[in-house]
Amino acid sequence: MRNIIVISGPSGCGKSTLIARLLAEFPELQFSVSHTTRPPRPGEADGKDYHFVSAERFERMVRAGRFAEWAEVHGRRYGTSWSEVRSRSAGGRTLVLDIDTQGARNIKEQFPEAMSVFVVPPSLAALKQRLRQRQERLDREARQRLGAALKELRAYRRYDYVIVNDELAAALADLCCLVVAFHRQTPRNDAAVRKLLRGGK
Ligand code: 5GP
Repeated sequence: MRNIIVISGPSGCGKSTLIARLLAEFPELQFSVSHTTRPPRPGEADGKDYHFVSAERFERMVRAGRFAEWAEVHGRRYGTSWSEVRSRSAGGRTLVLDIDTQGARNIKEQFPEAMSVFVVPPSLAALKQRLRQRQERLDREARQRLGAALKELRAYRRYDYVIVNDELAAALADLCCLVVAFHRQTPRNDAAVRKLLRGGK
């Protein structure tokens, strides 16, 4: 059983900040670094935020079956490689995937035991404001992302949990609770209880 937590949410819902804070709270969590054909944003580092690759390299990886899932999002390609899944979730470690709704669906099909969380903004006005702040020079892309956000929101029913990211601290507290609950699920604690039972013989 792999420990996989999928986190999705429309662009501008504050998901990346939330995930960064979650990883700081639980250093034992492993972040799955996706491959993407989109160029890096200021401050993003190759190999940490994403593996930034050319469209040709991405295509070769698709053909070679190296992705557990991949999708086209806002005209660029994004994918979770098998090597990320295998290496970072080895030894029972918990892997956190920041992926879109198509990717989440794919992962849930392959790993039904994964926990999926959908992060939503408190309002569309807040979403618009966050997108504008981030991409004042990329008007066309920001508009495209806003249109996509409305479409993505409709996928909320496929997720196990929904978190409204109004106030970061409150959203983070909710997410931390979910992570603890996930780790306390009975099948994940089988070995610990079996050990107790063996000791009682
Ligand atoms: P951004 O360009 O803002 O970093 O990400 C755009 C969207 O792509 C986000 O919704 C993010 O969750 C999604 N994304 C990032 N990596 C992956 C991936 O490996 N697979 C899929 N399906 N979506 C991804």
